[in-house]
Amino acid sequence: MRNKLAETLVAKGISNNNVLNAIRTIPRHLFMDSSFEGHAYQDKAFPIAADQTISQPYTVAFQSQLLEVKPEQKILEIGTGSGYQTAVLLLLKARVYTIERQLELFKKTKIFFGKMGYRPKKMIFGDGYKGLPDQAPYDGIIVTAGAPEVPKALMSQLKIGGRLVIPVGSDEQIMTLFVRKSEKEFEKTEYGSFRFVPLLEDKN
Ligand code: SAH
Repeated sequence: MRNKLAETLVAKGISNNNVLNAIRTIPRHLFMDSSFEGHAYQDKAFPIAADQTISQPYTVAFQSQLLEVKPEQKILEIGTGSGYQTAVLLLLKARVYTIERQLELFKKTKIFFGKMGYRPKKMIFGDGYKGLPDQAPYDGIIVTAGAPEVPKALMSQLKIGGRLVIPVGSDEQIMTLFVRKSEKEFEKTEYGSFRFVPLLEDKN
């Protein structure tokens, strides 16, 4: 079923073999509620805890491909959720820092990762809008929730040459890639439209 899912993603334009191998390897059904696990290898998003969703495999593959992860790179992920995207980044051999603001999901995924032997460098409960300055700069930052605007903190925590992949917009989002060219210059490229749950800012 996973091989078939990977074939579907190839047909939709995913070409990065390392990303496709991760999709072929990761048991997505274990990242989902048991009531949906029979559908895990469809290319669809599904509900997880706390009114959030596990992203569609195509979306995960598309974002992972845009990030161009290389082994040992330091990657910051905003929106751990089920941990599926995190697992893809780990299979790409990244050093992963991941932030989740829903306590229920944070706890659940942390326990699950322990059982499964997935080892991000750090799992953080908090507001990813602010990034994670104490570990910055990052080779890549991936946001897995829809951002009404691009958080400035994330731009500032990218290495020169680093890549920020973020869906920007309220109801619908445009997948956007920022490559940091210098201290002040960012090259912006826009891709297709996607639908994510919102990136929420904790105003305190
Ligand atoms: N990559 C996850 C996506 C989950 S949906 C998966 O495929 O399972 C997006 C996640 O972003 C949700 O879990 C939501 O709680 C989280 N999120 C929203 N705003 C956030 C913020 N400001 N900081 C960290 N996580 C946030």
